[in-house]
Amino acid sequence: MTRPGGSPIPRRRTQQLFALLLLLLLVMPEVAPAEEPVTFRPEIAVEDVRPTIAYLASPELAGRSGRHSTRAAEFIVQRFQELGLQPLFAEQSYYQDIPAAKDENGVRRVLGRNVGAFLPGSDPARSDEILLVTAHYDHLGTRGGEIFAGADDNASGVAMMLAVATALSKQSNKPARSIAFVGFDLEEHMLWGSTWFAAHPPWPIERVKLFITADMIGRSLGDLPLPAVFVLGSEHAPQLKESLDRVGRPEGLDVARLCVDLIGTRSDYGPFRDRQIPFLFFSSGEHPDYHTPRDTPERIDYEKVARVSSLVLRLVRDMAATEELPEWVDKPEIDLDEPRALERITTLLLEAGDKRPLTDVQRYMVSIVRKRCRAILEKGEMTPDDRTWLVRMSQLLLLSVF
Ligand SMILES: [Zn+2]
Repeated sequence: MTRPGGSPIPRRRTQQLFALLLLLLLVMPEVAPAEEPVTFRPEIAVEDVRPTIAYLASPELAGRSGRHSTRAAEFIVQRFQELGLQPLFAEQSYYQDIPAAKDENGVRRVLGRNVGAFLPGSDPARSDEILLVTAHYDHLGTRGGEIFAGADDNASGVAMMLAVATALSKQSNKPARSIAFVGFDLEEHMLWGSTWFAAHPPWPIERVKLFITADMIGRSLGDLPLPAVFVLGSEHAPQLKESLDRVGRPEGLDVARLCVDLIGTRSDYGPFRDRQIPFLFFSSGEHPDYHTPRDTPERIDYEKVARVSSLVLRLVRDMAATEELPEWVDKPEIDLDEPRALERITTLLLEAGDKRPLTDVQRYMVSIVRKRCRAILEKGEMTPDDRTWLVRMSQLLLLSVF
């Protein structure tokens, strides 16, 4: 093979190259198939995430709403300070007040507070570029005398954020780009905290090159035996897909890429996606204890939280150093990762038997989704029609099965 327009390689040289190649093939150990993702040992351990969840989801914090969300905010800020991270907001503050609309006297009441800290980039040429690592810390409070502890939703995401902040602030080679860590308040109130932040950022919002958030990473979709995290948003920036491939996945965790239009706006990435900022959303999916008093710490899969946190850590390191920043693509290219993930989920559902009983209608819906996914995978391509159908059916499944 020659480069177009380049000079042909001399014959003798070609022979030498072939001989070398042959030799390499003979001495090389058997190569793993290309689809096998690279795995790595999780760097963040269970004990790095468990205490955060234990405290935030404890009865003392009563579900982190109203004045109890203030205590959660103070806990996060204390951790930022212990790590020596800089305050993110004006007047050297770790807090950003989130006001309500003006009342009849023109006064704005404070509804809640975002918390944020900053790790300046070590490369002066790139420290203006910011990666945001976030998680909402509020939850539903106490209702009818019952505490909604919100261990998965979203003490698990905050545990990730603090574990990543800890690892990055303690490493000797500081990331080249700047990293900001933000705990959003009022996510459970129509994303009001992240909406306010995106409209009132501490710097021009164009400087945010990547937005990462995790919401519910400690359970499993529909309580299925699914050792996976869903990653949504990478379809809007090919560089993010490449980064996910580059860093691989932590041992014991599957990474299932889905497109965000499958679920719509379900967490704090909404206001950033609307501004066309490349983003990644990590979630292990909705389960039967979602938004109930049963979302408690003893039901959390701590290994999973540690593994997802380790994945985010690697991605942040990769994106903080890479030459190629993610660039927003409005109309994503369709690939087969999505039908692959859906095929896996529907198979698990159909094989779960008594562990996950389905009504006849649900079983029928799940099996036609699997059938269509298998047909797509068999022909090796997904048409826009296939995709429209899959999106509609997945939304139906989310509403009626999970
Ligand atoms: Zn929630």
